[in-house]
Formats: sequence, C-alpha cells, structure tokens
Amino acid sequence: MSLSKSELFTDLGLADDDLYYYPELNPDRYICDYCDKKIIDKIIPINDVKKQDSCANCFNLLGLQKADLNNLRKRAETYVYKIVYALKIDSNEWIYVVYEHDNKDTVDYHYYLKYYKNGWIILDHELKTYNPYFGCEIISITMNNNLITIKYEEKHSICEVILRPETDPEKFTKRLLYSTPNTFSRLLSSLTKDHEIGEIIHFIRDGKEMINKTYHN
Ligand SMILES: [Zn+2]
Repeated sequence: MSLSKSELFTDLGLADDDLYYYPELNPDRYICDYCDKKIIDKIIPINDVKKQDSCANCFNLLGLQKADLNNLRKRAETYVYKIVYALKIDSNEWIYVVYEHDNKDTVDYHYYLKYYKNGWIILDHELKTYNPYFGCEIISITMNNNLITIKYEEKHSICEVILRPETDPEKFTKRLLYSTPNTFSRLLSSLTKDHEIGEIIHFIRDGKEMINKTYHN
C-alpha cells in the first residue's frame, strides 16, 4: 500500500508546514535572532530569503509574522523533505522513505528508509546509490519475519536490501519523523559513529549478493 505524504502526516498529526522546513544547523545550537538565546522549542522562520528565525517567545511577544513557507524553500540552508513511499503497518507503526535535499550549489540528495514504531525510529538506513545526484525510485518495501526488504532502482542498477530493525531500545532514536541528521549533525556523527540504526542482512545488486553488504564490493 502506498500513501501520499499528506495522508501519512495527517495520520501522525503533523502540521503541513512541518513537511519540508528544517534548518541546516542542529537545533541545539540554533540561536534566536531577536533575543540571542538558544532556541529550545520550535524554530519559527521569520525571513523567507535570509536566515532569520525566532524563538516562540519572541514570536508572540513581538507579534512577528511567519515567513512565507512556500518562499522559505528557496533559502540556501533549507532542507526539503518528501515522503516518497510509505507503508502503514499499524496506527503507530510505519515504514517509509524520506527524500532529502538542500538548496545549495552543491546539491545534496539523500534517501532514507525509516521504520517508525510507537514514537521511535527503530530502523534508519540511507539508500546507497552510484551517485546520489541521480536519485532513485522505490519499487517496493515488504516485511517478512521482522525483516524489511526494500527494492529500488537507481541510475545503473536494481538494488534489494534486506534489513533487520534494531531491537535494543538503547539504540532507538527519538527523532522527528521526517528529519534526518542534517549536514551539521551528520558531520559530527561521521566523526564519532554512524547514524544508521538497524542491521543490513543482505545487499543484492542486479541479482548479485554484495560481499561487503553495500553498493560497491
Ligand atoms: Zn527569542
């Protein structure tokens, strides 16, 4: 069963403007442009072209206007998220693929397979391709004996990846459904550990089992 992103997000109670806006920087380090305090709650974009954001407190106190969310997409550091495939298992259980890119000159495209269960991400896998620039097309996602199989086509090949979701709650991530570790946190995590959650069991490329369980053997 395939669902549109709005069906998915309505079901999960998310606002429409939550679909695509996410600042480049880690919210932990995000500063309000009006009071210079660290933004600990929701980041409210004020300027739709330049990076100018407010904390919820200043937004209400100063009677600020929210940036035009359609124009906000043009900000260089804005990340665009799209749910390109979704599989509903239960009311609190979804498997879906998020497509992410930013607006910089060096366009960066990523696809993440995520398994959301009762508020936690128990599987997070970046789809591997020859070159992320060309993107990929999801053919199918199936679940069998607690293993997830995703089949997708990218520029050169058809890939089939079989994954096992994480079972150790210590390793689950409480993460916004659509957001992935953005550039900044990805940079940090690449210095420490991989952000992937779950385990790759098989990686099959054009019918051939890949020894290293990744796109290139
Ligand atoms: Zn503020």
